Amino acid sequence: MALIDTRELIKTYGVGEQVVNALNGVSISIDDGEFVAIVGASGSGKSTFMNMIGCLDLPTSGTYHLAGENVAELTADELADLRNRRIGFVFQQFNLLARTSALENVAMPLLYTRELEVSKDTQASAQTTTQASTQTKRLKTKKRYATKDERLAHAKMRLEQVGLGERLYNTPAQLSGGQQQRVAIARALVNDPDLILADEPTGALDSKTSAEVMALLTELNHQGMTVIVVTHEADVAAYARRTITFKDGQVISDQINPPMNSRSAKEPIHSGAQSEVKSEVKSEAQPGAQHD
Ligand code: ADP
Ligand code: MG
Repeated sequence: MALIDTRELIKTYGVGEQVVNALNGVSISIDDGEFVAIVGASGSGKSTFMNMIGCLDLPTSGTYHLAGENVAELTADELADLRNRRIGFVFQQFNLLARTSALENVAMPLLYTRELEVSKDTQASAQTTTQASTQTKRLKTKKRYATKDERLAHAKMRLEQVGLGERLYNTPAQLSGGQQQRVAIARALVNDPDLILADEPTGALDSKTSAEVMALLTELNHQGMTVIVVTHEADVAAYARRTITFKDGQVISDQINPPMNSRSAKEPIHSGAQSEVKSEVKSEAQPGAQHD
């Protein structure tokens, strides 16, 4: 069963002569574990499509099944719950709360989670089953709100996962753009979603930092996360395994990308981008460190 399955999605904005078909019959199926880039010119419908599959908006017509559920048949509460449990969003402008630490930014979505899946390693460390040491992506379901300690412990784990374990108490202004986007990715991960939707996640970043963010999304995908990235940059799209191209609200191509390794010899941009990732991580240890 596909994680995402859209059939003939149409989204129309406006009335009368001002009508725009932002989506004009989009049928796409995306499986669990895929890494997909959505590309196309500005105005081609990429963000509209992401809003549909992110359950932020409903289509004018057509159907959308997310993990087998027809989203049109859900109540507003069920939809919000589905979105909260299954989808992590990453945006171009990071959308972090300004005067709030990285830790609290990442913990924030957990306040609204009705059925937090509390991680075994964030629960009382008294639990010493052999299971606790096995890496569990899906965590034990607890039908209650998490305590503040649990929220912060879970957020800390996610910040460590994106390499920001040393920046827990920095506010966004005390972090570089790339670090802020990694905080946003940690926040997207905090509810243990099935799917990360990133709309132009590198749009506000320089090329070195873009490579770092894409390397992180690639790593998350290798760990099993389904990742869908909107971009208008070919070298960003190249990180994905599959590229879907939009034009005028329609899909004009849907292709599997060759693996990164086999391309690096032919396309020096990518092998360059890879080595830049390492130098960027290294250089971050100095300039942003004054607030520790
Ligand atoms: P992209 O993300 O590829 O740049 P969008 O999905 O944002 O494209 O937009 C697709 C088309 O729909 C554009 O013509 C845009 O102007 C229009 N559009 C998007 N959102 C709205 C809206 N809320 N109201 C009216 N028109 C919109
Ligand atoms: Mg857009």
